[in-house]
Amino acid sequence: MLVRRRLGGLRAGLRVRRVSTTWSPVGAAFNVQPQGRQLDLFGERGGTAGAGNPQKPYLLGLFGVPELSAPEGFRIAQETALRKADELVERVCSMPPGPQTVAIFDELSDSLCRVADLADFVKLAHPEAAFREAADEACRSIGTAVERLNTNVELYQSLQKLLADKKLVDSLDPETRRVAELFMFDFEISGIHLDKEKRKRAVDLNVKILDLSSTFLMGTNFPNKIEKRLLPEHVRQHFEPAGDHVVVDSLHAEAPDDLVRVREAAYKVFLYPDAGQLQCLEELLSSRDLLAQLVGYPTYAHRALQGAIAGNPETVMQFLEKLSDKLSERSNDDMILQSDHVSLWPEWALKRDGIPGVRTLVLTWLEELMPWDPPYYSGVIRAERYNIEPSLYCPFFSLGACMDGLSVLFHRLLGISLHAEQPVRGEVWCEDVRKLAVVHESEGLLGYIYCDFFQRADKPHQFGAHPVQVTKPVDVEGVVLTQEGPGKHECPVPLAVSISSICCGLSSVHGFGDCHFTIRGGRLKADGDYQLPVVVLMLNLPCPSRNLPTLLTPGMMENLFHEMGHAMHSMLGRTRYQHVTGTRCPTDFAEVPSILMEYFANDYRVVHQFARHYQTGQVLPRSMVSRLCESKKLCAAADLQLQVFYAALDQVYHGQHPLRRSTTDILRDTQEKFYGLPYVPNTVSLAFRPCVCH
Ligand SMILES: [Zn+2]
Repeated sequence: MLVRRRLGGLRAGLRVRRVSTTWSPVGAAFNVQPQGRQLDLFGERGGTAGAGNPQKPYLLGLFGVPELSAPEGFRIAQETALRKADELVERVCSMPPGPQTVAIFDELSDSLCRVADLADFVKLAHPEAAFREAADEACRSIGTAVERLNTNVELYQSLQKLLADKKLVDSLDPETRRVAELFMFDFEISGIHLDKEKRKRAVDLNVKILDLSSTFLMGTNFPNKIEKRLLPEHVRQHFEPAGDHVVVDSLHAEAPDDLVRVREAAYKVFLYPDAGQLQCLEELLSSRDLLAQLVGYPTYAHRALQGAIAGNPETVMQFLEKLSDKLSERSNDDMILQSDHVSLWPEWALKRDGIPGVRTLVLTWLEELMPWDPPYYSGVIRAERYNIEPSLYCPFFSLGACMDGLSVLFHRLLGISLHAEQPVRGEVWCEDVRKLAVVHESEGLLGYIYCDFFQRADKPHQFGAHPVQVTKPVDVEGVVLTQEGPGKHECPVPLAVSISSICCGLSSVHGFGDCHFTIRGGRLKADGDYQLPVVVLMLNLPCPSRNLPTLLTPGMMENLFHEMGHAMHSMLGRTRYQHVTGTRCPTDFAEVPSILMEYFANDYRVVHQFARHYQTGQVLPRSMVSRLCESKKLCAAADLQLQVFYAALDQVYHGQHPLRRSTTDILRDTQEKFYGLPYVPNTVSLAFRPCVCH
């Protein structure tokens, strides 16, 4: 969601000194390296002793689930869950309809989710292959069971009997009624109300859609390669050579101005359309449309927006058009500001690099803002105007200081404090995972947040999936960078892609690597106890060392606040039913608490309470906070306009079918309408990705 800057050399530039600042227990848990903990090298994890043996710590399984002290435990957990599911199905099908029907449905869903959600996380995040494989197997087995339940007519009828009886429905409290309707909605989108043949078609389409979307998303990561001779010498040397070719695996968006042609080449080559990908996209969109129509919706957009705050595609489109209208003047100003910067470029570039003849060259092809320029220029303009070099800020945003800040904020706002707890051996999947207990001043313990914050070699970093192993780059032919450069009025490339999705109520992803996973949802149990929610926050922060805590850039700090917003939503959304607990709410609403948290991260009254230098304890000066906040307003309209374009494209792709034109033509027209600058021929857009990822 943000163009992030790397810490680049910051560590090397800092003198290593003894940390003199003192931290609260929560701050210390994140700023000080854990002492005296041993890696579980000798397989003690599998043991069970401890309770009666003070010499040996009590060993638990992952997340405190006793069976999960070893990979084999997943089989036991899944079998127990499936057995319980069978009992609950039998019970609900043989009893008269009433509020208890909903309670049993929720218990059924809970017993399966508790294993499936946990396994879904472990299969992505556990460093040991044996755990990942066992978890994957559990996911598959529970997934099959869920599919069977979703097409179990008897189970469906037990709920239908309840909802068809008006008197009974009227007697339900609003929460119970809503949950009953949501369960019914889940059945219907699986096509259970259809005849046998159509039901089978719905299942087949669902499988096909899953396959197509994962193929497409993987394809968006593939690099392209281009023959060396098609690129000027000074450009091709910036890409990885491969025989007669070079490989382009990203947009090189931060290449500085003297390398502007590297940005141009990267843009044209990396976004060169691949016929297979385009076909996959068109097939995916038409399959989604077929499924939506089969289960009774006019379009896939109608199906996806059912139950969301926006409600229907018409409202969404009206909102986008209004927003675009109101934004247009400001976003044009932003683009003019960036263009002005382009025309200023030769002067300082010449001074800096003294490349002979560059001025003439620049004036011929840099008269206007190019598609590969806006993200770079907004960064440059921000830095120049406000002097917000991340290395100036990072020392004030040590991870411990930020966690302190969150704890203070939650205490003031909600009467909640965060307590760092020492996980029991075997409870966490990696030694550097921290565990927080969330405690309310009068209600007591609300739940647990596991903080898996630090980078490690095989950590998933995109869309909660394993990184794609790229083995076969795609060949690009005919992309020639002419000496004159590209034509005028070409479109800006959407670089700062904002990805905000809650996948199956399971996780939310912001940018690459920042995820929130619900491991266990809160719910009121039959015995009156409240089942405490458990979540994981996964970030990709630099690891601390003995003398240097993890230092966050302002962007990372804001992301941390955002993710903690999701975690607190899960802690505070204490519903009776786990089906609607915490972030298991309409996907557009799930972002609201987190967006609010971003405002706190940018308010001096909050920031000055925690931002202090990790060595000296000096508080971040007010002027620096103001500059940071002001800088965010710069080019904000243009950034938002880009998001409006993505959203509009999403609506058109998932609207009325058959699409009247190719997906690329639609992209070009929507971009012209909602973004204002024309499309670059022979490129596809990164906008495809957020359109498919839901
Ligand atoms: Zn979010």
